[in-house]
Amino acid sequence: MDSNLSQDVKKAVKSQKPIFVGLLAFSCLIVLAVAFFLWWVPYIGLVNIYHGLPLIYGGILAGIVLVIIAGIVLLISTVVMEKEIFLSHELRGAVVHIVFPLMVFLGRLLGIPKERIQQSFVEINNQLVLSMPFKVKPERLLLLMPHCLQDNECKVRITGNVRNCERCGRCEIKELVELADENDVKLSVATGGTIARRIVVENKPELIIATACERDLTSGIQDSYPIPVYGILNKRPYGPCFNTQVDMDEVKQAMRLFLR
Ligand code: SF4
Repeated sequence: MDSNLSQDVKKAVKSQKPIFVGLLAFSCLIVLAVAFFLWWVPYIGLVNIYHGLPLIYGGILAGIVLVIIAGIVLLISTVVMEKEIFLSHELRGAVVHIVFPLMVFLGRLLGIPKERIQQSFVEINNQLVLSMPFKVKPERLLLLMPHCLQDNECKVRITGNVRNCERCGRCEIKELVELADENDVKLSVATGGTIARRIVVENKPELIIATACERDLTSGIQDSYPIPVYGILNKRPYGPCFNTQVDMDEVKQAMRLFLR
């Protein structure tokens, strides 16, 4: 993997990392507190059954807690060290299915806006995808873009076939079509989550580079699992869902990193 390029892409990962790491550390305390309560509440009842039962039960609980905390520590070290890591595939699964919902819950308790947690999730997910040392053939890479990138006044229908774009240059669809053609990769535009899911099922990509807002990117990453999704947040100079933009340099960098 091109390390300079990788570092360039990873620069974006840093901004929201402290939130994620802080919430993960906080979740360690919660796991310990919950485990203690689960041991302490039935303590008397367990002694009445058999005097050694609290010790046996405590040992089982301690084992479970140890596995959970080891996973959290591994995830924190991955995020902090930004290295290619052990178990990145499994960690990505845990982040998608367990850690992110937990982060949203803890974030709500601590008054952290959901959007910031989602940004943090996208960045951590990207870091885990980057840490998987694999490359894909162009035909197995899918560029999945949101319909709101298209100029609002454009009359061309690009959702069924993005190559209907007349390449007038009023929006970034032109550059994306050219980029996809130059590299022989698939490019699709989705109007929403249902269409995006259908596109993924039809194309069976090995890797997706997707652009969207925090909410759509988050649900897209979760829905597409185990297919790795490298997420790029869109820019919204005119507000959400209207003439949005994407950082083309970031799209190109991500493609160069993952293409064989
Ligand atoms: S670049 Fe393509 S999609 Fe964008 S406004 Fe022009 S014709 Fe429409």
